[in-house]
Amino acid sequence: MSLAYYKEENKDMQKNEYDVIIIGAGVEGCMIARELSRYKLRILLIEKNDDVATGTTKANTGIVHAGYNAAVGSNKASMNVRGNALFDTIASELNVPFERIGDYVVALTDEDIPKIEALLDKGKKNGVPGIEILSKEEMLRREPNLNPNLKLALYAPTGGMVDPIGLSIAAAENAIDNGVEIKLLTEVKNLLKKGKRIVGVETNRGNFYGKWIINSAGLYSDVIMKWAGIESDFKITPRKGEYFIFDPSYKPIHSILFPTPTPTTKGILVTITTYGNIGIGPNDEETEDKEDKSTTYPGLKEVMDGGKRLVPSLNMKYIIKEFAGLRARGNAGLMHDRYSSMIPRDFIMEVPDDVVEGFVNLAGIESPGLAASPGIAEWVVNALKEHGLKMEKKKDFNPIRTPIPSFASLSREEQARLIEKDPRFGRIVCRCENVTEGEIVRAIHAPLPALSYDALKRRLHIGMGRCQGGFDTPRTIEILSRELGIPPVKVTKNGDDSFFLKRETKSVEAKK
Ligand SMILES: Cc1cc2nc3c(=O)[nH]c(=O)nc-3n(C[C@H](O)[C@H](O)[C@H](O)COP(=O)(O)OP(=O)(O)OC[C@H]3O[C@@H](n4cnc5c(N)ncnc54)[C@H](O)[C@@H]3O)c2cc1C
Repeated sequence: MSLAYYKEENKDMQKNEYDVIIIGAGVEGCMIARELSRYKLRILLIEKNDDVATGTTKANTGIVHAGYNAAVGSNKASMNVRGNALFDTIASELNVPFERIGDYVVALTDEDIPKIEALLDKGKKNGVPGIEILSKEEMLRREPNLNPNLKLALYAPTGGMVDPIGLSIAAAENAIDNGVEIKLLTEVKNLLKKGKRIVGVETNRGNFYGKWIINSAGLYSDVIMKWAGIESDFKITPRKGEYFIFDPSYKPIHSILFPTPTPTTKGILVTITTYGNIGIGPNDEETEDKEDKSTTYPGLKEVMDGGKRLVPSLNMKYIIKEFAGLRARGNAGLMHDRYSSMIPRDFIMEVPDDVVEGFVNLAGIESPGLAASPGIAEWVVNALKEHGLKMEKKKDFNPIRTPIPSFASLSREEQARLIEKDPRFGRIVCRCENVTEGEIVRAIHAPLPALSYDALKRRLHIGMGRCQGGFDTPRTIEILSRELGIPPVKVTKNGDDSFFLKRETKSVEAKK
């Protein structure tokens, strides 16, 4: 697949008719596409960026929450508990690392104790399995580096960690394998309507027509629903969360450790990612800018202090990275509008056919949107069935996604066999993570192609070790340039004009 393909305007009108068009390829859009691909339908997943999972899905904690946080009776609670239960099957079918390492909410003061008891009660009402309160002694036995002043802790054994980006890529790849079309670098600019019915989307690459349009545009879901004609005061106000990531050699804890939550946030936690790094964060700051993913000194200080409250011995010299993500915080249930009867800030999940036909609206999907994603995808399928879309199961649906072989995780014998078949697997490009040229080339030419450095990073973890890309970047630029058929100066970090190189020094020299 060449980069030029993605720059082309789509001129073939005949091919532009679908049963379902999904707007936004975050974890929700990818999981919905994969779930719908079980049926004989023409499905199109549209994403404005150059890859899937580049929005909120790219920068979050990666926790498959157990489900004790959300209000009883809310969409957040039911989707979280259902989604969590579906994770074992989905992660094993899609070959995505997922581990139920258990999550804990720690009471650090006497005032926290009744709040933990209330969480236990909520968890039981939400149907969270195996939830219980542990004594201080038991908690310190399990996590000896926790703050020794802790009083007790809530334990949820079903809490787990997943790689949200890996999950989205895997779901998208499996959806493609089962017939879904994905258009990257394709931005929906408006919705096409015929009377009360939405009939398609207008994009920078032409119009696409669909019987059903699904809004899973994350931070921009409020914009899409306005285009659909839903009149309300619903608004997404991004809430920034900042993080630190530590070197994988440093492991003072091995589970998910939350402080006692406040009414608005779950607090700054300490956890271990699926790749073995400790992560701390996120804080919770309002911002008006839906693209502002900058980190700030006060934000990172808050994260550091919060992490040390839980694990006082945290050694900051092992920090290798900081980043920020944006929660799509909605105001459903807080305004006098069509959502006024909703539980405050709950997920909007509706087929609003009183105002518009052919439209499934998912908005305000903040945390626990990742944990809930399998449940939300299942809900969408049922909603489409109930609203009359003819859905016949495919006999040849393949639930299994085979990933690119990870050279570093193979045995010596397997590595030797792979190198014999393709010598490019014998050339290490990223020394920290042991990523080979063979893996990079396969990712660039995969059905869901990696078109930029960060797209490779998302798939192969290139540049994510201690040197943070210092060694591999020049070599990776060369490979991207060669395989995509573009000059090195056109290779980007993450699409648009994020070029690594300013100009060709040799040609400047030659002109002198
Ligand atoms: C700091 C933080 C921590 C979190 N931690 C957790 C956690 O531990 N566990 C958990 O369950 N949840 C967590 N969440 C929430 C979770 O990350 C989100 O609920 C989830 O990623 C939302 O996915 P999405 O697909 O709805 O949105 P996104 O990932 O934002 O995807 C939407 C996509 O739509 C695309 N798009 C938008 N407009 C258009 C358009 N006009 N045309 C084409 N494409 C468009 C965007 O480019 C984007 O790729 C956290 C969130 C944050 C910010």
